[in-house]
Amino acid sequence: MIAQVIVDVVHTNVDKPFSYLVPDGMKLALGSRVRVPLGKRKVDGLVTGLLTDDQLPTEVPIHKLRPIDSVLEDYPALLPPLILLAEQMAQENHCPLSETLRLMLPAAMRTGRIKQKQELYVKLSQVDGEAEAAKLKRAPKRATLLRLLKDGEARSVSELAQLVSNPRESLKALEEAGLVTVEEREVFRSPYDQEDEKRSEAPPLTADQREALQSMLPSLTQGNGAFLLHGVTGSGKTEVYLAMVKQVLQQGKGAIVLVPEIALTPQMVRWFRNRFGHSTAVLHSRLTDGQRFDEWRRIRLGDARVVVGARSAIFAPVERLGLIVVDEEHEQTYLSDKHPRYDARRVAKRRCENEGATLVLSSATPSILSFAMARRGDYTLVEMPNRVNERPLPEVTVVDMRVELEAGNRSIFSTLLAQKLGECISRGEQAMLFLNRRGFSTFVSCRSCGYVVKCDQCDLSMTLQRSGPDDPGELRCHMCGAVRKPPDVCPECGSKYIRYFGSGTQRVEEEMHKLFSQVKTVRMDIDTTKGRDAHAKLLDEFGSGRAQVLIGTQMIAKGLDFPKVTLVGVVAADMTLNLPDYRAPERTFQLITQVAGRAGRADRPGQVVVQTYKPDNPCILAAAHQDYRAFFELEFARRRTGLYPPFTLLARLLVECPDEAGAKEMADRLYEIMQTYLLSHAPQKRRVLMIRADEAPVKRIRGQYRYHVLLKLFDHPDASPILRQMAELTALGDERCHIYCEVNPATMM
Ligand code: ADP
Ligand code: ZN
Ligand code: ZN
Repeated sequence: MIAQVIVDVVHTNVDKPFSYLVPDGMKLALGSRVRVPLGKRKVDGLVTGLLTDDQLPTEVPIHKLRPIDSVLEDYPALLPPLILLAEQMAQENHCPLSETLRLMLPAAMRTGRIKQKQELYVKLSQVDGEAEAAKLKRAPKRATLLRLLKDGEARSVSELAQLVSNPRESLKALEEAGLVTVEEREVFRSPYDQEDEKRSEAPPLTADQREALQSMLPSLTQGNGAFLLHGVTGSGKTEVYLAMVKQVLQQGKGAIVLVPEIALTPQMVRWFRNRFGHSTAVLHSRLTDGQRFDEWRRIRLGDARVVVGARSAIFAPVERLGLIVVDEEHEQTYLSDKHPRYDARRVAKRRCENEGATLVLSSATPSILSFAMARRGDYTLVEMPNRVNERPLPEVTVVDMRVELEAGNRSIFSTLLAQKLGECISRGEQAMLFLNRRGFSTFVSCRSCGYVVKCDQCDLSMTLQRSGPDDPGELRCHMCGAVRKPPDVCPECGSKYIRYFGSGTQRVEEEMHKLFSQVKTVRMDIDTTKGRDAHAKLLDEFGSGRAQVLIGTQMIAKGLDFPKVTLVGVVAADMTLNLPDYRAPERTFQLITQVAGRAGRADRPGQVVVQTYKPDNPCILAAAHQDYRAFFELEFARRRTGLYPPFTLLARLLVECPDEAGAKEMADRLYEIMQTYLLSHAPQKRRVLMIRADEAPVKRIRGQYRYHVLLKLFDHPDASPILRQMAELTALGDERCHIYCEVNPATMM
């Protein structure tokens, strides 16, 4: 036998399978991880093909092949469908196969740092435990142990040690007497709170839920179908997923449910654990390496059939996949920010097509792209226009902050929001205040000359962090973590009028305390949620009712379900609108609609106050009316006339280099090559709307200067050779100067 092995080394030189001899008696399958010689080194690799001697390509002389060193696990780490997926992704992203294969395995498995955890288990031999215990009057500890084991179930030594002090000696004696057997077993490190688990049943479904299921369930049996589930906030979409997963399990198949960020939606995991118990596994970045490895193994070995996880869970090794759900499909977190830059929604579609599974993308505010695809017929649109139990959507009021200022109100809160807050608090209900900014204020700028304090390394404005009004605080760069003291006078012009501009979550919290000194608040932003359990603790503080007001950045916009929240304040709706990104209106609409959706989810109706300096902006108005269709038509038309995606593609070659001249030179060179390429490729050239070499929007990050060659292309098959050409040019990079090819990146920094 000959094995074709992709070595785990990311380099274009080794981006093809190498052939190795399989030694006699070595147990090996497609997808097994192996250790193989490569030149003078030994490296890990993955078996992607198995051939008999006569299938070997003739250019490889069989006597020159070297044998495989060893097999790393006694089961194949990757199943054939995932190998296929890795191959497709490598082709699509123009990157080495070893790079996409890496996505499919837990990092701890590759590095070999984490081992399977073994524990000693004890079991009664074929004897009557009670009778034997009665004989051991002189050895009470041994007798107790026998009684604990008399039901014949195996118990771990660590469990017994909690009931009987130092049981090891006694167990040894019992083993020697042939009364018990002791064996090593693998145990899984678990990320769950055992006490938290209580089983629950599905409630009677609403009419919307039943109709949605009627359109989607038949596809599960047929093993096909791709749906876009558009359901307003609070329409009970989760219950629809649960019903679908239940049927998938009954059919002996498995499911993957992707959520934007698990730490923010602990409720989702709880719902699935309560319904499906031990068959649910979770996969996300906040698990320890050991927990992640063990959850992955539980899925791989079929112990868990339902996976709830963040973006990378799309690669979970679920066998016989029946369903993939992408919850809140509009979220940016589904775009990978590392190379290879994949879009989990696209990967989900691919996997479903490959493996005969059903795809459900779901959101109250679908992305423009997905909704456009649904209209084109790529997805079947399923709508849930009503909230559960005829609860009304919250009532939204837009407040013009310019009028507030004219009337002399310089506070962060409009008169209306302050009044509603007061009413909400005195009724004993809860409120959420939402601000798309973190820190006490976003940046420090000079009112005389406009100077803004920026990070030396990153060319980004620094954020001021203060513990209170008397604290001078410190400036922090959110890209690289650099810290500095805020200046007393402007370093440019010497003016004293250098001050904190705008308002952040800390300032909202402070003003809140000025207005209502007795009210307990919780602040959730990137600074208060660093630890492993920080999210869960803060959410619990609020969920339990110990705090009455939750103040946060966009992270509180996502799927939270707190029944006592009746008021939501959007403190500054314009912030995202002013971002230099063609998706700014889409983001703004999504954020306002999503946060508004947190209000009035139970029996008491919700109210929303949206504060803005642009009360006539059509996207703010559509959000206030929670009218997705109106927003979609508006935005789709704007994208068509402005030639933005999905009508066009934005692609760039990004150069990062420690010296500026080097970065610029490389970008200019890439620009020249692209121009030459286009001159000799007329059909491709016709699809190019714009090409230019330029500084990247953020000129420096972590000391690396950044330049790019930016192209705007019509989304047309003729344009794809251009992307291939761009991807090939990344090979011109070296150790100093990196080149990345990005197509429609999540953010264009
Ligand atoms: P969405 O994700 O659509 O915003 P959720 O799935 O979070 O909505 O559901 C909103 C709330 O309604 C949750 O508290 C959920 O438990 C409850 N709910 C969902 N379906 C039903 C039902 N059929 N009967 C009663 N309550 C339901
Ligand atoms: Zn100045
Ligand atoms: Zn920095």
